[in-house]
Amino acid sequence: MKFSELGLSPKVLASVEAVGYDTPTPIQEQAIPHVLARRDVLGIAQTGTGKTASFVLPMLTSLERGRARARMPRTLILEPTRELAAQVEENFKRYGANHKLTVALLIGGVSFDDQLRKLDRGADVLIATPGRLLDHFGRGNLLLNGVEILVIDEADRMLDMGFIPDIERICKLLPFTRQTLFFSATMPPEIQRLADTFLSNAVRVEASAPATTATTVSQFLVPSGRDSVDKRAVLRKLIREAEDLTNAIIFCNRKRDVAIVQRSLARHGFSVGALHGDMDQRSRMATLADFRANNLTLLVASDVAARGLDIPAVSHIFNFDVPTHPEDYVHRIGRTGRAGRKGTAVTIVTPLDKKYVAAITKLTGQPIDMMQVEASDELANARYGKRHHKHEADADRQDVVAAAADGAAEGASGEEAANGDATQRGRGERKPKREPRRGREKHDSEAQREKQNAFGSQEDIPQFLLRSVRPASAS
Ligand code: AMP
Repeated sequence: MKFSELGLSPKVLASVEAVGYDTPTPIQEQAIPHVLARRDVLGIAQTGTGKTASFVLPMLTSLERGRARARMPRTLILEPTRELAAQVEENFKRYGANHKLTVALLIGGVSFDDQLRKLDRGADVLIATPGRLLDHFGRGNLLLNGVEILVIDEADRMLDMGFIPDIERICKLLPFTRQTLFFSATMPPEIQRLADTFLSNAVRVEASAPATTATTVSQFLVPSGRDSVDKRAVLRKLIREAEDLTNAIIFCNRKRDVAIVQRSLARHGFSVGALHGDMDQRSRMATLADFRANNLTLLVASDVAARGLDIPAVSHIFNFDVPTHPEDYVHRIGRTGRAGRKGTAVTIVTPLDKKYVAAITKLTGQPIDMMQVEASDELANARYGKRHHKHEADADRQDVVAAAADGAAEGASGEEAANGDATQRGRGERKPKREPRRGREKHDSEAQREKQNAFGSQEDIPQFLLRSVRPASAS
């Protein structure tokens, strides 16, 4: 099938040609005619299938008729994260190059005033995260009763992030007659309920069976010891030995581990950036731009931060942790093997991860091959390498940080004890001898607080771990 057979306008077809797409992807082929016919659509598609264009292209065609009024957006697209929202905006710019449409982006971390100015001018397309949209609505900055098309994108991620009540509120503010396009990579029962509530007589389109991974991705499980130190050694070995690695995303389950793994890799000489939910918008965008431009080879990321990122050609995915929700595995793997390209996805597994791996293979219906990696040399280098050197000392400290974060500071003796810097921190967390009781309590609570501020808290990542790191050489 050709794009010209889908009913898109000449202007849209011209930009599709300019972008260089030959044929529509399956989700585009199935969804576009229905969107143009103003039907509600339930799209089950993971990122990487071309799903964004499957709603952006027909929306552009529909928006050619009529024009925007001040503070009354004509279409609304809800996205779970700021990055995804910014990416959809990019898509509108790219595919809408021949249209004079106003696109307003309402995301957190950006000034309300700029966003308000855009709303005042009249937005044809409003792309928003649910919280910021409701903030603007609460301030009386916009009316939602002119919305003709609503897109709920990445609905299952909205669910994971607790946005469903916000979405229900937003839907009540929209006209009953609107057209709704609803996309989700997976269809757990809560999402099905939501789809049943918000969609009317919807056409169901699927890019592939729910929760399957692209067939172009080779997947492997690699066993590792359960300590963070062991996992980082395995990770380094995997990266060094990977064939045809052009760039890679490394996923961690926890934000604090994102920072730790990134710093550790940087200290070991890798070109690496980090992306997690606590970073401000500007640094996230800068890191992403660096990664897209190949200034950074590796990106360590959390699920939320990396959701749906459109990075066209990622050759490798490394799961530093096995995701605890099997759907996240599908999403992570969706970062590679996009648009028919080849990709490799390697998951580091510890003896504690068995049940999570079982849940993944049950969901995808595909067994994953085991691959053995001998990382004892990496581990030995980290333990007995050039300890006097500042970089190594710092790398070791990251290992101690990780051990502390895992609640295993006492057990991390190998690397910790051999390094002065790290030993100091390790000792700082132990009770000093012969201190008066009050003093000791104070010391303990300070150490506790320091530890919590530094590594213990789920939310706070210490600044020294967040500094952007230039590609360093392993001297
Ligand atoms: P998405 O699933 O929307 O994140 O899109 C994944 C990638 O596929 C993006 O880099 C798009 O630019 C690209 N893409 C979308 N549609 C097509 C198409 N018809 N042909 C080739 N690439 C496409």
